[in-house]
This record gives sequence, structure tokens and C-alpha cells, in this order.
Amino acid sequence: MNENINSQLPALDSQPSILSPQRSALIVNVEQRFREYLQANNLRQTRERFAILQAVYETEGTFTIEDLQKRLLQINFHVSTATLYNTTLLLVRANLLVRHPFSSSSAVFERIYDERPRTYQVCNNCHQITLIKSRELSAAVLSYKPRRFSVSHRITYIYGVCPKCKRALQKNLNNSQYSSNETR
Ligand SMILES: [Zn+2]
Repeated sequence: MNENINSQLPALDSQPSILSPQRSALIVNVEQRFREYLQANNLRQTRERFAILQAVYETEGTFTIEDLQKRLLQINFHVSTATLYNTTLLLVRANLLVRHPFSSSSAVFERIYDERPRTYQVCNNCHQITLIKSRELSAAVLSYKPRRFSVSHRITYIYGVCPKCKRALQKNLNNSQYSSNETR
């Protein structure tokens, strides 16, 4: 990790309030956790890092680095892509952000903010990601309480083929059967 990226920036003394004037209790809480992580690891508490944390925590659902950059640009907060990558990596290490293991072209992230389990359906073909809302599944995931393992968050992935891809694959299959019959 290149710690020099933010080295010219002033250290953060006061609380940043960049995205919304009223910071929620959640933001205050995660800022405290991030501050502790940065202190423990001898890393600088820069304005950029806290602005990125706030943008991350004001984003519901999944997002990419590009989405995050757009969001910060909307409020005229300019950060380099390198700082975004660097900070998201720190947030992942600080257990404040999860990087999903999706094989999409861009890395997909999501804040870790409560104990509710989340389940995603992922298409093997087009890599489309859908959040599944199932009480049954959530209850089952929550009911698993390991004895010697402290759970921080619960995310489940279900892989398969989406209806759109299934139709396309079926169509291709039918076409290939038709052409093989023709050549007989
Ligand atoms: Zn698909």
C-alpha cells in the first residue's frame, strides 16, 4: 500500500461534514472505528479518507469505485482514483466495508452497517447481482451461531443463471440443434 498518497494533505483535526450537514449516529460511530483503526496502524487521518468513509456509508447497497468517484464529484469533492482505491482497501481491512467476490469487471463493495444477513443471487453468465429478500433464508443464516468464531457479518451468495440468460442459452441450443438436423 502506498501510504505516501495522502502525505501532503493536512491531518484531520475536526470532524468533516462534507456530504450532508447532519451526520447520522451511524456515521459518527463508523468514523470513530475508522479513527481507531488508523491510529492503531499509524496511518494518517486525512480529510479525504473521512469524506470517502462518509460517501461509502451514505451509499445503500453495492457500488463500484467508479460509482463512489461520481458521487464525490457530484458534491465537488475531488479525490484521485489512487486515493479511492487506497481508502477502500483500508476500509475493507478495518472491517467497515466488504468487497464482494463477484467476477464482474469492476470490484463491487458494500458497507457493513448492521447485523441483518444479506443474500445475493449472482448470474454465472452475465454476472448480474440481485439482492434477495427472504425471511426464511435470513432466519436460517441468523440461526447459525458458531461456538468459537465471532461473527462480524453474514453474507450468502447463490450462483446460477438468470432468466434472461437462460432464455438466450435455450435459444442458442435450439438453433444449434436445428442447424445440426439440417446438415444431416
Ligand atoms: Zn444472466
